[in-house]
Amino acid sequence: MSTPPIPGRVAVVTGASSGIGAATARALAAVGYTVALLARRIDRIEALARELGNGSIAIRADVTDRDQLVAAARRVQDELGGADVLMNNAGVMLLGPFSSKRRDDYRTMVEANLLGAITATEVFLDQLTSGSGGDLINISSVAGRTARATNGVYAATKWGINGWSESLRQELLPDVRVTLIEPGVVDTELPSHITDEATREAVQKGYDVATVTPEDVAEVIAFVLARPRHLAINEVLLRPADQLG
Ligand code: NDP
Repeated sequence: MSTPPIPGRVAVVTGASSGIGAATARALAAVGYTVALLARRIDRIEALARELGNGSIAIRADVTDRDQLVAAARRVQDELGGADVLMNNAGVMLLGPFSSKRRDDYRTMVEANLLGAITATEVFLDQLTSGSGGDLINISSVAGRTARATNGVYAATKWGINGWSESLRQELLPDVRVTLIEPGVVDTELPSHITDEATREAVQKGYDVATVTPEDVAEVIAFVLARPRHLAINEVLLRPADQLG
């Protein structure tokens, strides 16, 4: 699928150091975007920025730290002229049986997946609304529609993203298009951070045979962003063709 080049458009991608974020940064750079890559692993995003070229920059930013996001937004404004696209992608999936043993995991997920996306958005909102039309891409999940045993708090963060996105869509139209992306299993390092060993091993088995790649998701996001401004694709649910729920 070919999309027209977008000279001068700037995209900010959180969680750009691996998986879906890195793949989307590559897909957007390939059609002319300058990308601001945000993540904690600075070595990875610096290497990716060099690979992408076209003025792309790497900014170390933890989405749970508002001061770091404010500093990142200042750099994007000063060095790139502001963001046209914000992709809220940073996240962790710390699955496991509900228990006090995992209370730190619950706080980490809420602070990164949900509050991190909310904070990044309020910090970058002026930039998104000040150009010729902004786009907000929120990465949710199938888990934002279907809760299962052992995924409760992760699902809660993604259900939260879904409700918040719909509210924002109504508030920001037509200046900023809001798109919710809900992937099923995608072959990334996401399950490797699960702290509960038995859960990590069980989930990893499903990821070891994952057929959908981060590049598949990135291609969909690039397609969404390339639509003419009168058309907003507000929600995309995408799964491996053989994924049941
Ligand atoms: P990865 O683990 O490859 O990517 C997660 C990214 O989030 C990394 O770049 C990581 O960067 C970043 N991140 C995590 N915590 C923080 C933080 N506190 N501050 C800044 N960055 C952070 O997994 P995916 O690519 O799969 O995940 C991307 C998104 O896609 C997540 O929101 C996930 O929930 C969602 N998703 C993934 C699915 C899948 O099956 N893979 C399915 C459905 C949704 P760093 O550690 O360098 O900071």
